[in-house]
Amino acid sequence: MEKFVIFGNPVVHSKSPQMQNAGLNHINYNGVYEKHHLEDGSKIKETFLKNGYSGANITVPHKEVAFINADTVKGLAQKIKAVNTYKLVDGKIEAYNTDAPGFLKAIESFGEVKNVLLLGAGGTAKAIAIALQEKNIKVTVLNRSENNLKFFIENNIQAYTWAEFEPEIYDLVVNSTSAGLKDELLPAPKELLEPILKNASFAFDCIYGKITPFLALAKQNGCQIKDGEDMLLYQGVLAFELFTGHKSDNTVIEAMRKGLKGE
Ligand code: NDP
Repeated sequence: MEKFVIFGNPVVHSKSPQMQNAGLNHINYNGVYEKHHLEDGSKIKETFLKNGYSGANITVPHKEVAFINADTVKGLAQKIKAVNTYKLVDGKIEAYNTDAPGFLKAIESFGEVKNVLLLGAGGTAKAIAIALQEKNIKVTVLNRSENNLKFFIENNIQAYTWAEFEPEIYDLVVNSTSAGLKDELLPAPKELLEPILKNASFAFDCIYGKITPFLALAKQNGCQIKDGEDMLLYQGVLAFELFTGHKSDNTVIEAMRKGLKGE
């Protein structure tokens, strides 16, 4: 039986095992997916190999160190410099970033998007910004501090702090900050956000399973809103395809969605 895993710290609340195991069961795959609390990210490669895993997902805070420890990095992950998926191929680790295409798949339901304001400059923002740039969708990053803005500027993506920012009109506003996750905060001051949302058509929050203050404000201002459930689902579906070599049809996707929601 093959073994798959999610590495994180903390990892106890991860919904990936229930989602991935639902997919594996659905296609009768001889494999199981488990959680692994990894304290020291620098041990990710030896832990992966020693435990005989065929594939892994990697979550906070290990995505950057997972990138450094991979034998080969595929696709957009080379630019993002962070990976959330490992696959064992001939004894070597191939690494991917499925958050980026997972995000693009999640916003497909909005229709055509041309100009995006991305709130936050953390690991998730990097994946989203590079994914949008690859699709030739204009993206501007707005963060509360200068932390990490250098990454975007080096990749020719406009990036600002609140103080120096002059808004344009955006079709889509994305919250990739953790404001709203465990608190009731907005990701930027209300007086800055509200006029932007009034002029926008869509708002997306990477946080899932709740209407955050950001999504509530966007809705009040006439935006179509969406939470991060589909992003989590599709990054998982893309990892599942890499793990199993099985192209997922709608029945697999829906089985994984039910697994994710614990249904
Ligand atoms: P990081 O810690 O890498 O980045 C957090 C970002 O949020 C930083 O830009 C930080 O700003 C900003 N921030 C934190 N608190 C506040 C606040 N109170 N007000 C304004 N800005 C704030 O986190 P990640 O990028 O890994 O994750 C971000 C969010 O995305 C989390 O909520 C996570 O749950 C969600 N997520 C969802 C996924 C999905 O599949 N749906 C996948 C991955 C993440 P600063 O730089 O100034 O510190």
